[in-house]
Amino acid sequence: MKIEVKNLTKYFGNFVALKNINLEIIPGELLALLGPSGSGKTTLLRMIAGLETVEDIDSGEILFNQINVAKKDIAQRDIGFVFQHYALFRHMTVFENIAFGLRVKPKKQRLSNDEINKKVTKLLNLIQLDGFANRFPWQLSGGQRQRVALARALAVEPKVLLLDEPFGALDAKVRSDLRRWLKQLQEELKITTILVTHDQEEALEVADRIVVISKGKIEQVGTPEEVFHNPANEFVINFLGNVNLFHERKNDTEQKYHIRPH
Ligand code: ADP
Repeated sequence: MKIEVKNLTKYFGNFVALKNINLEIIPGELLALLGPSGSGKTTLLRMIAGLETVEDIDSGEILFNQINVAKKDIAQRDIGFVFQHYALFRHMTVFENIAFGLRVKPKKQRLSNDEINKKVTKLLNLIQLDGFANRFPWQLSGGQRQRVALARALAVEPKVLLLDEPFGALDAKVRSDLRRWLKQLQEELKITTILVTHDQEEALEVADRIVVISKGKIEQVGTPEEVFHNPANEFVINFLGNVNLFHERKNDTEQKYHIRPH
């Protein structure tokens, strides 16, 4: 799915949350929206999702494969979500949580129980939770729950996956494992993915491209190495410019992207 955001401005009352955003999301890429808290990342994601629409006071377009969906709500788009506090249905097993989206499909598109079984089993394997089908959410760790949330989002085979700080509530080790795993999964599925994060390291590690946002404006768009090695302006330098982070990450980055030291 090709997504284009054109001249998008979004107001909340008198407050401008997004200022003239222009952005193209390449089909199959993992794009990170990176910026400090309050910079407008979630608002942009919600607008792409259709959870916020373009109202009279706002302006701009959001195109999904060339069709303007800016004033249309979520039903018009083909997306899966995972949020930081994505609540699984507590009274449903892991299996039923993942199958949920398949069971509520319109009758014509609905799969047979056999097909649902096959699909959920495959997804359980993909999230490395074979054998967990009959557990309830409270019997899982935080990381396992987020993997189930991801499987639930993927079950309906959306064209776009939107992730809002999906690992934010987890501890550092689990978060780092899940990032690596998300990257692998995304590379395998090649589903167009937008990840909201305020964590520079997370963006560097998983994204194909990073959009740096501050106060509702895009400061830079580029690959991780472009953004980290050639920050576009003072804001990006300061935001990423934790020198320790930069030096610590530099070796990893050089190895990962085969960048030769200057
Ligand atoms: P981020 O995801 O980068 O933390 P948000 O997109 O959540 O930032 O918020 C951007 C700004 O817009 C913040 O100042 C926030 O307070 C404001 N904002 C977000 N949603 C609303 C809303 N529904 N009503 C009023 N202000 C909002």
